Amino acid sequence: MTSLWWIRRDARLNDNPALLEAQGDGPAAAVFAWSPAVRLWSGRRRAHLARVLWSLSEDTGRSVGVRHGDPADVVLEAAREVGATVVCAQHEYSPSGLREQRAVEEALTHDGRHLRLVGSPYAVAPGRVLKADGTEYQVFTPFRRAWRDHGWRRPAAPADPRGFVPVSSDIDLDHDAALGDIQDPLGYPPPFTETAWLERLSDFVAGPLAQYTSERDLPNVDATSRMSIPLAYGQVHPRTLLAAAEDAATANPDLSASAATFTSEVAWREFHANVLFHHPDALRTSLRQVIPDDAWATGKEADDAFDAWRDGRTGFPLVDAGMREMAATGMMHNRVRMVVASFLIKDLHVPWQRGADHFRRGLLDYDDAQNQLNWQWVAGTGRDAAPYFRVFNPDGQGDKFDPLGAYVRRWLPDLDTPAYPERIVDHQQERQIALADFTRGKRPSPQS
Ligand code: FAD
Repeated sequence: MTSLWWIRRDARLNDNPALLEAQGDGPAAAVFAWSPAVRLWSGRRRAHLARVLWSLSEDTGRSVGVRHGDPADVVLEAAREVGATVVCAQHEYSPSGLREQRAVEEALTHDGRHLRLVGSPYAVAPGRVLKADGTEYQVFTPFRRAWRDHGWRRPAAPADPRGFVPVSSDIDLDHDAALGDIQDPLGYPPPFTETAWLERLSDFVAGPLAQYTSERDLPNVDATSRMSIPLAYGQVHPRTLLAAAEDAATANPDLSASAATFTSEVAWREFHANVLFHHPDALRTSLRQVIPDDAWATGKEADDAFDAWRDGRTGFPLVDAGMREMAATGMMHNRVRMVVASFLIKDLHVPWQRGADHFRRGLLDYDDAQNQLNWQWVAGTGRDAAPYFRVFNPDGQGDKFDPLGAYVRRWLPDLDTPAYPERIVDHQQERQIALADFTRGKRPSPQS
């Protein structure tokens, strides 16, 4: 009996328990639903997704079906076509992923079929790591300790690339118009095959990992893994990252500290997914209110400030370089993401949601949980967030992390010319305003 693999955020052959389950009794059929939700993604992300699916299709002898439509319709239709009574898929935990899988489950059950959810996009599924009293961890460090104590399996065996029953597609992935729209900061297009990303991971572990602790904050150095891209599309599972770091440290104990720092960064990804699982409304709503509502800039003043930030024309080089890097490449270094986010919220007094929306349109590695919860972290409204009174100084951050100015010069050809914009605000003044807002926010309101 053929089973169907419903491809979700797991378009890969390696370390894929849902696919292995589907291939358990022999060749499986596979289908991806190019849903109305995907049609709302930025052109850049859609183009990358098309390449990812094209690459999976090539790896499987062009057997994978990619079809327009709601997952509930696409999956049911494909299951009927191949006679699958069981559909295997990765369990998602985001609000939209949960909604989607409930709809698919309902459609299949109605038709006498069964959805089997196997594995998740995380080393430890959200909701599983809990305190002894059964409640969620609010603070990162104890979460990370409990997460590590919980542990995870080694990566699953690779699936059989020939073990597929062909399913037809109604999307021609080769002809996706926007394929050429992405550049890489280092001058080559970002990889989009699973094999290329696994090679990149091996190269990272054999090279930059050794300096990861000291260099990962330097935006001009190729010091980080860039795995957020394949993680966002499910081409690599975080277990594979964790195993690569662990194996490197076992083979060479000098790498232990770097491997631990890298593992800790992956733990942030798991922490944010966990917070979103417990608080689905954190996608739009601050988990804590730290400043009064009337502190935000409004009207034309806010719109002009936002436009200057979005276009990389604030007159603050590190902020402008980051925004222009994202516009050109879909990527921005983590340190610079923190600086530009802090600048929008605390220097321009624009609510974090507006910045997060812009990142959704700009980032290639966009991920609901990671983006929204990182914005909340910078805004001081999230779980275990940076305190609101910590206001990044864009010049100080530049001096510290880009001391020779190589990063800002790469993205700002106009920097030392009269064309470079004047500063739109005085950082010290805006910082004082942000701190005063915070103090007001701590005072009980007259009504309470
Ligand atoms: P590495 O340093 O190699 O880290 C390894 C992995 O650890 C990353 O691939 C990532 O999965 C995880 N990681 C590292 N830093 C963080 C972090 N701060 N939070 C969560 N996970 C982390 N990341 C996304 O994947 N998607 C987003 O939409 C996103 N939006 C962000 C928005 C803001 C305002 C900020 C401050 C950060 C955001 N991040 C987001 C987190 C982080 O910037 C990226 O994951 C990181 O830049 C990816 O580079 P890398 O893969 O080379 O990281």
